Amino acid sequence: SDHSLDYPSSPRDIDWSIHYPAYANTGKLPEFADVGCGFGGLLITLAPLFPDTLMLGMEIRVQVSQYVQDRIAALRVTAASAVPTSVSSTAVSPSAHFQNISIVRANAMKFLPNYFAKHSLTSLFFLFPDPHFKSRKHKARIISPTLLAEYAYALRPGGIVYTITDVQDLHEWMRSHLEAFPLFEHVDEETLRAQGKGPVIDAVYTSTEEGKKVERNHGKKWLACFKRIEVQRQ
Ligand code: SAM
Repeated sequence: SDHSLDYPSSPRDIDWSIHYPAYANTGKLPEFADVGCGFGGLLITLAPLFPDTLMLGMEIRVQVSQYVQDRIAALRVTAASAVPTSVSSTAVSPSAHFQNISIVRANAMKFLPNYFAKHSLTSLFFLFPDPHFKSRKHKARIISPTLLAEYAYALRPGGIVYTITDVQDLHEWMRSHLEAFPLFEHVDEETLRAQGKGPVIDAVYTSTEEGKKVERNHGKKWLACFKRIEVQRQ
């Protein structure tokens, strides 16, 4: 259930060392959030690419979030035992052991600000979100004016929102809402690639279970990315 007792009352109340024990003494907070992470393909792909970055998936389905938690735990054990004995463990980045990724079972539409402090995120991912086709269900969509205010709060200026979907109507919906919101500015794929974000964009397209399913079905994928801009002072 969404009972508030299940949730931390504020990001300050979260003991991140339980999620990221190898980073316990670094004072680091999660900087990448994968909203509706499903089976965790994005987190697992990005983990070794950003060894200094903590990443958190949010997933509402109990069994799916448990599956991802078990998957990460298994990867940590396997990766740790695969390290050659000639290499001292301190010489190996903790991310090589998938220590920099974790997951919470949470309704991101209600509780995202309970997890992420103001301006703590550099990247926010919405990959193949549920389309909620019928108009009366549009309020259930994960991109809406109210929620965009929360996303803008959690993202630091310069941070990026990545969206991708195989549903054209949802793509247009997400894009038009993000473009209309004063704290977000559309940024095209080429610009992001030129800024070194190519590996992230590749992962956005291909790393998730839903993305792979769309490929198998020869579906089209629409990407739309947005930068969290600074507030204009006048
Ligand atoms: N991003 C994953 C991928 O690309 O494979 C999963 C895509 S799946 C179509 C959408 C996911 O969002 C589902 O796993 C669903 O349970 C989750 N979800 C839907 N609403 C959510 C919410 N309010 N908070 C957290 N997760 C949610």
